[in-house]
Amino acid sequence: MAQTKRQMLTSVELYQDAKEVMPGGVTANIKHFPPHPIYMNYGEGAYLSDADGNKYVDYLLSYGSMMLGHGHPEIKEAIHSQMEQSGTWLFGTPHELEVTYANKIKEYFPSIDLMRYTNSGTEATLLALRFAEAYTGKHKVAKFEGHYHGGYNEVLLSVNPEISEAGQKNNPNSVPSSKGISAAQTNETIVLPFNDDHAFEILTEHASEIGAVVLEPIQGGFIPAEDDFMTKLRNITEELNIVLIFDEVKTGFRTNLGGTQALYGIKPDLTVLGKVIGGGFPMGVVGGKREILMVSSPVDEETTDVLKPKDVLFHSGTYNGHPMILAAGLRTINILENELDHVLNRTEKLKTELESLFFKKGIAMQAVGNGSMFNVILSEKQIRNYRDYQQSDMQTREKIDYELLNKGIYAKPLNRYSLSTCHKEAELEKTLNAYNEVLAEL
Ligand code: PMP
Repeated sequence: MAQTKRQMLTSVELYQDAKEVMPGGVTANIKHFPPHPIYMNYGEGAYLSDADGNKYVDYLLSYGSMMLGHGHPEIKEAIHSQMEQSGTWLFGTPHELEVTYANKIKEYFPSIDLMRYTNSGTEATLLALRFAEAYTGKHKVAKFEGHYHGGYNEVLLSVNPEISEAGQKNNPNSVPSSKGISAAQTNETIVLPFNDDHAFEILTEHASEIGAVVLEPIQGGFIPAEDDFMTKLRNITEELNIVLIFDEVKTGFRTNLGGTQALYGIKPDLTVLGKVIGGGFPMGVVGGKREILMVSSPVDEETTDVLKPKDVLFHSGTYNGHPMILAAGLRTINILENELDHVLNRTEKLKTELESLFFKKGIAMQAVGNGSMFNVILSEKQIRNYRDYQQSDMQTREKIDYELLNKGIYAKPLNRYSLSTCHKEAELEKTLNAYNEVLAEL
């Protein structure tokens, strides 16, 4: 089992206590890593400090959601002034900021005519699939091997399958990624190979049953769909009356302001957003074509009659459009309008310099990614999908990650790197120095 060397007694104690009240000591499985997770208790800018007083440059950034780093004063101000202005923090009714923020999102995502707010990325992809099913009347869903869309049965299939169970490379099996998923559900979701034209044959074969294809246009935030693959996917889904859903939870306002759809120049039917748009608070969005979103309208557009529930796609939620969160999210986007380009430039610089460090050391490494996210992949091969990635040298990568933790660089072992507006020259230099030392000791 990998060991960390920094003094972490408090984290060890907290972990022991946590195991008495939560299964495995965590309230999100992804937060566990051996021998114990590190308990953080302070964040400022690009830095996190743990309960034992160790300080880290944070590249996990709460799985990418803290785009402005930790404790940004303008976000604190946005929340306080929204609360002062409203007198409360939750109306339980529609309010003006819902409209203001929706218009801001539409500015950058021209494929979105109408949208709905949710409380997480999981809820948002779930809602998007329901829209697709209600709109097309077709109830199977197609997703790609290795793509993650949240924690529910319809999409918890072949997210990280064992290669021995995953079936043929160009015709993958649907493999549960959780206990508790029925065989019936496993068969309802069709798993496609990513960046592989065989996906189009599978879609054609099942076209009469498939209502939606959902994908991460940049798988895991670092493996991009190839241009030609994306164009073909758009064309065939249009032809087969399948709703194309871009899950931009990771990429929205992180690869660039308009998401991957602006990079590819392709309009999906539905878009899902999360993470950055909530400014570090729980939020998601489903947006897209008017005719699809209107399936959830409680009133008939022409007659203005209130419709019966059975004739409307159900969507509700006590906290949807929470004013504090919208205020934090909108201010985040306003700041990114000025600062995102700098983050993108600094990310490119870090990627290039890391690659050159590994090159000098004689280790094949690619900093694979787009925008302000990338992954450190130890492989000579081009990485085009889940299976290519699985073949990379994860053992050495993990070893490096643990050594980096000891030197104050926090990326959860084997996770991707995300940068924030606070990751500046000084943080890049610290990171490169730490890598230099770790590679020298390898
Ligand atoms: N889709 C993608 C692409 C994601 O990366 C995530 C979260 N990592 C989700 C959906 C689920 O979002 P949440 O964790 O907010 O439920």
